[in-house]
Amino acid sequence: MRTLLVLLTLLISAPGFADSFVLNNLMLPDFENRELRPVNIEIERGTIKQIVDASVTLSHADIRDGQGQVIMPAFIDMHSHSMGNSSLDRSDYQYIGIRGTANAMLYAGVHGWLDLYSKESDIFEYRDEQYSDERNEALVFAAGPCFTVPNGHCDFGDGETRLISTPEQAVTELRDLSGTNPNVAKIVFDNGGRQPTVDKATLEAFLNEARRLNIKSVVHVGSWSDIRTATELSADAVTHLPWTAMPEDIPKLMAAQGTAFIPTVAVINEVLHLHDASAAEREDSVLAISMTDALLKQKLLRDYPITAKNERYFEWLSGLKADGAALNRADAISRLDAAGVTILVGSDAGNFAVFQGIGFHREMYFLQQLGMSPWDIVLGATLNAYDFLGLEWGIKEGLPAHFTLHDSRIFEDISFSTDVEHIYLHGREVNREALLRYAKPGFFQYMKLFFGFEV
Ligand SMILES: [Zn+2]
Repeated sequence: MRTLLVLLTLLISAPGFADSFVLNNLMLPDFENRELRPVNIEIERGTIKQIVDASVTLSHADIRDGQGQVIMPAFIDMHSHSMGNSSLDRSDYQYIGIRGTANAMLYAGVHGWLDLYSKESDIFEYRDEQYSDERNEALVFAAGPCFTVPNGHCDFGDGETRLISTPEQAVTELRDLSGTNPNVAKIVFDNGGRQPTVDKATLEAFLNEARRLNIKSVVHVGSWSDIRTATELSADAVTHLPWTAMPEDIPKLMAAQGTAFIPTVAVINEVLHLHDASAAEREDSVLAISMTDALLKQKLLRDYPITAKNERYFEWLSGLKADGAALNRADAISRLDAAGVTILVGSDAGNFAVFQGIGFHREMYFLQQLGMSPWDIVLGATLNAYDFLGLEWGIKEGLPAHFTLHDSRIFEDISFSTDVEHIYLHGREVNREALLRYAKPGFFQYMKLFFGFEV
């Protein structure tokens, strides 16, 4: 009876304390000096109340031990898609929708993602509900549709894209969209492939109108020449990294214009890594990470590594290897980073072998492999992303207590990021297992998604 009473008291009092507590013994990243500072932190009702030196004792009814881990400001994936994942031959699909993505992201320790193309009514409605205030899931920021020419990249003929062929249409469509307050506006300017794309005048009209409406622009590009044009026209960001050698002028130009880069390196680097993979490469791939098994349907994972059995992709990747794609990409990322270009972390999850939540960690891993330091990568994954989205986030007094705890060696080797166990959202410690219900839908949840009861 006594134990029952104690339990009951705990249960009743727990909610009051749940988002108010002291977390001792943490390492706070100081991005200016690139060092870790030992601190104790008090959280009050979901907000960071005070940060003090570790030598100062804070009293509280709920005191927790941070065990010397890094308190990491919330990660944001700056390029993702909220659908699900396909098998390599496209015969199988694991659909998780927006809610599933929100759960998969938080399970992986990613607090927010920028959706760069979804059905606009669904994604904006979901974003505006701000579910993360009341339940544990990542926050979505969204472009809404994708702007492209008829039959261009991301025109799937389903009426969900905004099709524009002239400068006038670019302006009209963007004005029409602006009522929904998109977090960014995305346009495809891609002369790298065989599909048609908007002309320069249309791109220019789009970028000018976005600036006038105070909406950040993100340009999907296909070549270095596309990157040069979009940068000269003052795009706020360009996304995707070409696999050809980078021309000399690009780093200086991007740095001078202040154009941010969302290179989405994992999209090609992961499949290159899994192409004809040795045992060591497999050990170093997305397949070896425990959150991959937790979140993904086994059937989709069995497609990897990519062998000659899947002729189409095998040949394509052999070609990329022969062309020196990996070296070209490493050279480009190292030089862009050294020139001071803002590089943001975007996974482009939804592509082959890049999965929601996990893909974010893989993007950081590959950026490190291509030459970026963990400090630069983390900056792009946190503070610079907040800057781009206009968010007041971070580990500072008065800001929402969104953070994760990590092994302090993460600033020597970013691959420690996948070991995340402690995730806090509005000061609530997240029960990760509960997130799998939506992140990895079982039959009933899947049916609800399938019949459109949920998105
Ligand atoms: Zn994408």
